[in-house]
Amino acid sequence: MPTPFDFVFALPAFAGPPSAPVPAAPFPGVDAIVAGNSYARTDTSDGKIRAIVIHATQGPTSQSAMTRMQAYQASWHWLVPHPGEAAHGLNVWRCVPEALAARHVRNECHDPAVNGDARNANAWAIGIEIVNTMTAGDAFSDWQVEQAAALVRQAWSGNPSLSTVVSHARLDPQNKVDPGAWFPWETFKALVLGG
Ligand SMILES: [Zn+2]
Repeated sequence: MPTPFDFVFALPAFAGPPSAPVPAAPFPGVDAIVAGNSYARTDTSDGKIRAIVIHATQGPTSQSAMTRMQAYQASWHWLVPHPGEAAHGLNVWRCVPEALAARHVRNECHDPAVNGDARNANAWAIGIEIVNTMTAGDAFSDWQVEQAAALVRQAWSGNPSLSTVVSHARLDPQNKVDPGAWFPWETFKALVLGG
């Protein structure tokens, strides 16, 4: 059985149908939170988006993840709420706009299967955080997996350069295990590729 350290798959050229826009709302107050936590993609790359990195927050709520965003100078583009939250089933949270780089992967990380083993992934990647404690009793909901897949399809349909989806654990195996062993990677992959 694959582990989070194996999670990666390639995206061929996008062949519709185009996905409906993912229901999303800015996390309340997010633009002030991320103002010092994002930067121009062209600062360290050609600005093209080439990969999506799948994360789990290792916490119980969207707010706890956003508090961590402020405390640790980390950031990401999308946050998929937990089944215990009011937004679950309604909308994902937009955090950093996709046009900007967020800080969700260490600059030293690289993988031969992802953008030619390049470093500085934040410049060319989109980060999706799924709210989950990564414990045995806390299953990812179908809706969470579907929204994560829909976010990938939305980005894929608009970015011809986007070619890989990978777990944070695979990019940073020394330090990270997210999205964790309970994330249904094969189901997620089928939703992305199958539409
Ligand atoms: Zn992560």
